[in-house]
Amino acid sequence: MEKMLIGGEKVAARGGEEMPVVNPATEEEFDSVPNGGKEDVDAAVEAASRAFDEWSKKDPDERAAVLRAGIAAVEENGREIAQLLVREQGKPLSEAMGELHHLLHGLNFYADLASKIRGSHAPLPSNLGRSYGMVIKRPVGVCGAIVPFNFPLTLMGTKVGPALAAGNTVVVKPSESTPLATLRVAQLLQDAGLPAGAINVVTGGAEAGEALAAHPRVRRLAFTGSTKTGSRIMQIAGPAFKRVTCELGGSDPTIVCPDADVEAAVKGVVIGRYFNAGQQCLATKRVYVFDEVYDEFMQSLIKRVSRYELGDGMEKAERPKVRMGPMNAARYRDAIADQLQRAVDGGARVVHEGEGRDGKGYFFAPVVVEGGPHEGPLVREEVFGPVLPVWRVHDMDEAIRLANDTPYGLGSSIWTYDARLINRAAEEIEAGMTWVNQIHYGYDELPFGGWKNSGIGHEHGLEAMDYYLETKSVVIGGLD
Ligand code: NAD
Repeated sequence: MEKMLIGGEKVAARGGEEMPVVNPATEEEFDSVPNGGKEDVDAAVEAASRAFDEWSKKDPDERAAVLRAGIAAVEENGREIAQLLVREQGKPLSEAMGELHHLLHGLNFYADLASKIRGSHAPLPSNLGRSYGMVIKRPVGVCGAIVPFNFPLTLMGTKVGPALAAGNTVVVKPSESTPLATLRVAQLLQDAGLPAGAINVVTGGAEAGEALAAHPRVRRLAFTGSTKTGSRIMQIAGPAFKRVTCELGGSDPTIVCPDADVEAAVKGVVIGRYFNAGQQCLATKRVYVFDEVYDEFMQSLIKRVSRYELGDGMEKAERPKVRMGPMNAARYRDAIADQLQRAVDGGARVVHEGEGRDGKGYFFAPVVVEGGPHEGPLVREEVFGPVLPVWRVHDMDEAIRLANDTPYGLGSSIWTYDARLINRAAEEIEAGMTWVNQIHYGYDELPFGGWKNSGIGHEHGLEAMDYYLETKSVVIGGLD
């Protein structure tokens, strides 16, 4: 059994409970971790509070140097960590390596910012005498980070990176199905020179997550996960006035215009939908194709999706055609099957269904459907798996109306070189991000956050740093 990381020590759950870690490609329980609860969260927050005093007082350059040493250690052990990620998460090894690189890029981005945190100066009126106004920035204290299963490493990095760079300490609660790679990375960061307790990992499920969200000494809570859990988090964390960000579900539309480079659009849409077996918040979840290019788009789409082979993520090296691993758990696979069935019952038409895989593993073959009536599960719910609905549209008004016809507002994209259509997409699509002639990708350099039911606040970019800093105004009088 792996153990949790609390106060620099590897520890079991106070209550003694464990939970299995399952390989979704084989259904084998290959390891286990403690099933932590409230007492473990209390211990982790206590350790983080103690470490805060030392870490927050370090020179920013020193903090950056410790982070960089941690980054180097993670990079050195990258392949082993990526393999662990494949076993617990299911994605192909090449995707796991990609995720690791994204984590390292993000941590570097925030290590660079440690010494660039700035306040400001304000000229003040002299009615109370001459005085000098400053705005200073201070770390907030102990931060909580609750992470989902689909990108356990990058989504830990988007929270831990800015938290530690700004001088805070952190308690991470990974998803119950993907705790192992997280524990490994946290241990390497800890061993690189963080004070004991600057980073803690409490493994467990909803009980541990709720205890972290409710803890009065956690001043900042960064949550990534489903909209349903996000809503619960807001209920728990709201009364204590924590600084909460919620990065939640999405139903990202893409619009393929008459002048689009159709091959590029198809390639983007296929990666956008089927990467990570469709388990991506920013996945391309709905496609609207103009009449003029609809047939060409569909033909090319089905040809490309037909090349997808399912397999254990570790098989990728021997079988290069393996492009999709299993879904992460039986419950996610069953939810997709149920959504597809309800969509078909409501009038959607399956136009392509890939070859499944016999035997064990939570595999779900890629599916393309003509969307049918614009209602039901493919529009109103988040489809978190490899099912892609496509609709034909006749003009930009219709495309934008349908793109916005969803409770979500995370990402969106458009395939065109027409500046007027690009401008309309940028101005009129209700989403936190719009990509033009590119697939949806969360750059560390740009703020990332959803509108509507897709969340509140931002991660990534310079903007993310602000959520990890308190602002104080200081007035120095007596200068006459
Ligand atoms: P989830 O909401 O089930 O779980 C997310 C995390 O919250 C896990 O660590 C889980 O243990 C914890 N949790 C569960 N119940 C809790 C509770 N009551 N209180 C506190 N914590 C609790 O999500 P998931 O299935 O792991 O992840 C998939 C979802 O995450 C999708 O909806 C996806 O769109 C979303 N997501 C969003 C983004 C984004 O940046 N917007 C990124 C990745 C994933």
